[in-house]
Amino acid sequence: MKLYSTLDRGVVDIIPNKEGEVSIYSCGPTVYFRMHIGNIRAYVNWDILHRALVYLGYDVKRIMNMTDVGHMTSKDDFGDDFGEDKVDKQAQKEGIQPLDIANKYIETVLEDFRNLNILAPNGSEITSEIIYMDVNKYGWTRATEYIEEMIEMIKKMEKNGYTYETKQALYFDVSKLKDYTIFTGQDLSEKEVGVREEVGVDSDKRNPADFVLWMKRVGKYKEHIMNWESPWGNGFPGWHIECSTMSTAIFGEYFDIHTGGVDHIPVHHTNERAQNIGAYGHPSVKYWIHNEWLVNKEDLKISKSRGGADTLPEIVQLGFNPMDLRYLFMSINYRTRISFSKEALEGARNARLALIRRLKELGKEEGNVIEKYKEDFKKELENNLNISGVLALVNDLLKSDYPKEDILATVYDIDRVLGLDLESENNKEDESTDEIKDLLEIRQEARKKKDFKESDRLRDLIYEKGYRVLDTSTGQEVKKIDE
Ligand SMILES: [Zn+2]
Repeated sequence: MKLYSTLDRGVVDIIPNKEGEVSIYSCGPTVYFRMHIGNIRAYVNWDILHRALVYLGYDVKRIMNMTDVGHMTSKDDFGDDFGEDKVDKQAQKEGIQPLDIANKYIETVLEDFRNLNILAPNGSEITSEIIYMDVNKYGWTRATEYIEEMIEMIKKMEKNGYTYETKQALYFDVSKLKDYTIFTGQDLSEKEVGVREEVGVDSDKRNPADFVLWMKRVGKYKEHIMNWESPWGNGFPGWHIECSTMSTAIFGEYFDIHTGGVDHIPVHHTNERAQNIGAYGHPSVKYWIHNEWLVNKEDLKISKSRGGADTLPEIVQLGFNPMDLRYLFMSINYRTRISFSKEALEGARNARLALIRRLKELGKEEGNVIEKYKEDFKKELENNLNISGVLALVNDLLKSDYPKEDILATVYDIDRVLGLDLESENNKEDESTDEIKDLLEIRQEARKKKDFKESDRLRDLIYEKGYRVLDTSTGQEVKKIDE
């Protein structure tokens, strides 16, 4: 299998530490808000990677964190040490305990993952029975459950001479690590202005790039709700330490793949790598694999704090199926920026529905997987997850002269990686019934709220899909438009 390794600055052969087994740590969601589609892109991309490795015969050991403490940021997602703890802040805003906030938003993460057909980190399907209480059984790790291990790891760094303490915090001293900026090749003095301004918050901080390992519950954080005892006083861990700790606590000092968005490269992953070396004397991650941005038309990075964010429920509200979003993210290589727009999503929907229509023409009887296509499919996956090559292959297969039932079996086999749920789509009696039902429900809600503009828009959308809605005294009636 070949993937783009950020540190190697190129596509390389992935050779796992243990033959036949791949360990993967995926940076996961911060659970204080409804996941944004910019975050969803990463989870779809890495779900494809996970499924591809399983398909290729690897034993995949995967974990994903849930950040329920210490994600400090002010303006954006770059990990400003002296911003606000988002979970703590949201708890104060909603007037409930931080853990209740985390649990509430973990439920929404599970719901979005389930609707997008994203597997749990342990490879299980996410059923509606999985709730926040048992996420750890399915391969998720919650930061608040690893505080002891974080303290132990920080102690190692301290012993190895990588830290210093001020009245406010315990810091990682980046000057102690010669190749600290290996990811970006940046000179330390070129660090962002925003980071430099931060020095004013703690005048004892030596270098603007030094980052917090342990924040004391003093000064600005005197009222911080979540806090633990530590050798450096009562307080809470920095954001970066959680990923270094949980990955190595579970996999040991060495593991194969660490995934995340390119936005994590300059700070979060740079610091994770520094911490691993600080504690263990060597890097822990063999391959850092990053997905590109999801951008909107103005080429602005989409992120929650920039406003105008779209969530999966909002996309469903517009009349799309969650699988349309999956199709869009799946069909574009993780290394390519996606320019997100309603048109792009419509294109994905049309492609997905056309594929389902084509399958319906093939019938429902399943034959044998065609070996030639299976081999070609594997080659495309091994080639840096070349999904556009896979889609071309599927197209070619659908036009081929093989028996219908064998074509169908082969497409279903390929869908084990694509995750579009094609078999159940094909077996649905009427491809649009479920979708129309959903739209009718949303429309009824809109009418209750007397939002007639929205109700008219939905009526038109349903019409486009081949159904006419009539509003009668007993409610909405729907009729299929005869062709
Ligand atoms: Zn992380």
